[in-house]
Amino acid sequence: MPALADSYVIPPPPRPAIAVAGSDKTFPVRRIWCVGRNYEEHIREMGHDVRDPPFFFAKPADAIVPDGTRVPYPSLTKDMHHEVELVVALKSGGRNIALDRALDCIYGYGVGIDLTRRDLQIASRDMKRPWEIGKAFDASAPCGPLQPTSKIGHPSKGRIALTANGEVRQDGDLAQMIWNVPEIIVKLSEMVELAAGDIIMTGTPSGVAATVPGDKLECEIEGVGRLTVTIAPPPA
Ligand code: MN
Repeated sequence: MPALADSYVIPPPPRPAIAVAGSDKTFPVRRIWCVGRNYEEHIREMGHDVRDPPFFFAKPADAIVPDGTRVPYPSLTKDMHHEVELVVALKSGGRNIALDRALDCIYGYGVGIDLTRRDLQIASRDMKRPWEIGKAFDASAPCGPLQPTSKIGHPSKGRIALTANGEVRQDGDLAQMIWNVPEIIVKLSEMVELAAGDIIMTGTPSGVAATVPGDKLECEIEGVGRLTVTIAPPPA
């Protein structure tokens, strides 16, 4: 029987993974799910009704890039925005997960940025087209090291903030989430079967804004950790 790698017609692409704080091991990423609207002030700044329920979209797993990355400014956009978000990493999953079992699925938490080509997202929305062009581009999901729940528990409150070149842009609190983490897991598991390796970006507080080459974006979530990326010029 041939070795597994020999069974592919081309070399298999590498498995995207996220660093784990205090460990040499990494967390392998299966899918990236994102919550669209989950902080009231951000919903207002985007011009939507806060009574609308949050919804979900996805990014490809290989959109993950680590802490310290120089993210190249992506093509096509003139308005890339930062959205700092709490990242939830699952160690197990299932369908129709019960609310009181949802936290049991979580391996750990991290700090992420849902980078967004806002102009293209809004154009897609207005044309009733899919959001991928605005949300699912290369390197669109920077994610800092995960903190296992065995070390930090399950943070449900605490400051979530992003500064650009030292200037505070986003400054919220996890307690402002409209849907909390267990509720998000329950809802997602009604739509798809969740599994180990899935991560969820849980929505952003207000203060989203354009970011340009040269910007240093520093993110922090109290009790979870930090993430720093720099926006680099577009690839030549
Ligand atoms: Mn987002």
